[in-house]
Amino acid sequence: MTKPLTHTNTFIFLLALVFVGVACYLQWELIASHRRADQAQTAYRTALRDYRHRNIYYDPEATIAWLRERQHPAGYFVPNPDLMFEPSQRNANTLRATRYAVATLRELNALDRINGRAVVEFVLSNHVPDVTTVDPSLDPRVYRHGPYAAFRTLEGETVGVRPTMDALIILDSLGALDDPRIDLERIERFILAHQNPDGGFWDEHYPEQGRASSMKCTSFALRGLGVIHRHTGKPFPQSFARRVAGFVERSRDTASGGYGAAPALPARDLYNVFRAFVTLWWLGGGDQVTGKAWVNGHMDVDRALDYARREHYLADQGAYSRFRSRPQRRPSLKASHLLVWMATAMGRRDWLDTEALIRFAASQESRPGEYGGDIYSTYSATGIFRKLDARTAPLPEPTPPPHYQPPFPAYFPPLFFVLALVTLTLGFFARRQELEAINRALARQAATDGLTGAVNRLRFEQVLASEIQRARRHGTPLSVILLDADHFKTVNDTHGHLGGDRVLKRLAEIIEAELREPDLLARWGGEEFVILAPGTDLQGACQLAEKLRRRIERATFNGGCSLTCSFGVAAYRSEESPEGFVERADQALYRAKRAGRNRVCLEGRSSQTAACTSG
Ligand code: GH3
Ligand code: MG
Ligand code: MG
Repeated sequence: MTKPLTHTNTFIFLLALVFVGVACYLQWELIASHRRADQAQTAYRTALRDYRHRNIYYDPEATIAWLRERQHPAGYFVPNPDLMFEPSQRNANTLRATRYAVATLRELNALDRINGRAVVEFVLSNHVPDVTTVDPSLDPRVYRHGPYAAFRTLEGETVGVRPTMDALIILDSLGALDDPRIDLERIERFILAHQNPDGGFWDEHYPEQGRASSMKCTSFALRGLGVIHRHTGKPFPQSFARRVAGFVERSRDTASGGYGAAPALPARDLYNVFRAFVTLWWLGGGDQVTGKAWVNGHMDVDRALDYARREHYLADQGAYSRFRSRPQRRPSLKASHLLVWMATAMGRRDWLDTEALIRFAASQESRPGEYGGDIYSTYSATGIFRKLDARTAPLPEPTPPPHYQPPFPAYFPPLFFVLALVTLTLGFFARRQELEAINRALARQAATDGLTGAVNRLRFEQVLASEIQRARRHGTPLSVILLDADHFKTVNDTHGHLGGDRVLKRLAEIIEAELREPDLLARWGGEEFVILAPGTDLQGACQLAEKLRRRIERATFNGGCSLTCSFGVAAYRSEESPEGFVERADQALYRAKRAGRNRVCLEGRSSQTAACTSG
């Protein structure tokens, strides 16, 4: 055995372990890289969802372009550009459409993008400079008289507070209030002629109300008057302002905090809250300081906003409804805008659900730049975006993660597992072969005498038994020769025990050299040997013994010493036991010793008792 088994074992085991380790590492790496890719995908999807949720913006340019399409060469704006040159009922109320178009463009700082001159000319074409009376049946002691000046919606229509307000707002926006063709004093008197003793206003433009005051007409009147007063720098007389404010206060629905359409009416329309606010705002001069102070002085703003949120806000849509109850309770751009306007003007922006309102307004885009399908709704959406500082450009889109590329083919880890298995299997077979070789060597060792190399007694007895079987079966002869070195004690005494060992070794070599193929030399014990000679009869065995005797006698051993041996020979007799067989050879040997040594004696049959040869 050249290399220790354990080393081979350890090496194979370590190699397999390395393969398993590599396989595990690769598998782990593969799973980790899959997981990283998954995480990147999830992060991207989350970012994309968040991006889609937050990427709400409006495009001012689109709205400007959309409005420009609606301006007639004569200056006015039409609700439907397809019917621009075919006047219809739908396109009739162009003064109002023009006011909201101008107001939208003013919000977008884009009044220079339309033909402003033409707008002014269109508005002035509806100016009636000489109105004698608003209603001839009115009591002249109560109502002021003309001459007045006012505006109408279109040629042939009657004048009214509402168109006059629209015209004033347009002219104010376009810086045309100083136009010499209009007389602001006459216009102011026309509006004031619509005030009732209760402080509120009526308007012939809304004939269904008759001459009863309403929050709606009052707010129109005050918006018109407000434009004139801000332009002339003239504040409202205190008594007038108190009377109008009183009308507003009496219109408050104390139960809910909202405002009715007129005093003592329940609140059901959110517009009336805004009308109350805007009336008071303009009574105070229409600016951030005095206007706001007037509103705060005559209105419980928090309670009004609370009413709006409680009764009109549709939280799931992020929008306000104009009406409080079904079936008209639905999200409205206009109502939402008025609420945003009031809340931001009153410094209550944090009170609004800004993001939801912007999202709602953006969701109402019906065509690029158009919201809710009409000019008024587009104006409202634009107002919401501007007042709540909505984004005008999209957010940068999140970048998707790179296409997943595994770091190595997926079959790598199993490949290394297979390598480990193959290594272990090969190792197992190699180890088995090695063990078989060891077993063979051990068996050889177990059957051999360590000193002489001859087989040992145990092995001899096994071979003897099987040769006896064979001799019995085939009837072939079988002999044993037992030999013992003569006076070996002397050899030991002379050459030492190790020298004796060397002599014994040489003796075995000499005998082995003389034997034939089937003959077997075994060490019987000490300096005694036994030769099993299959196929050899007594005579043949005797000749062999004699040959050996002479060969030993002539040989010189190490250290120049010589040696003789005595031989006992026996041939197998049928039905004899192996012990009996060897015993007869031993007796013959004993006789050879007794007869003087260095001789061959045959088995002790009476006829052959003297059959000894000597040198
Ligand atoms: P005899 O002629 O009667 O056989 O005389 P002998 O000296 O050989 O006497 P015997 O056979 O009784 O003694 C054998 C001696 O051989 C005894 C022992 O010291 C020696 N001997 C036995 N085996 C070994 C061995 O393996 N090596 C050595 N060196 N000596 C051995
Ligand atoms: Mg002896
Ligand atoms: Mg002896």
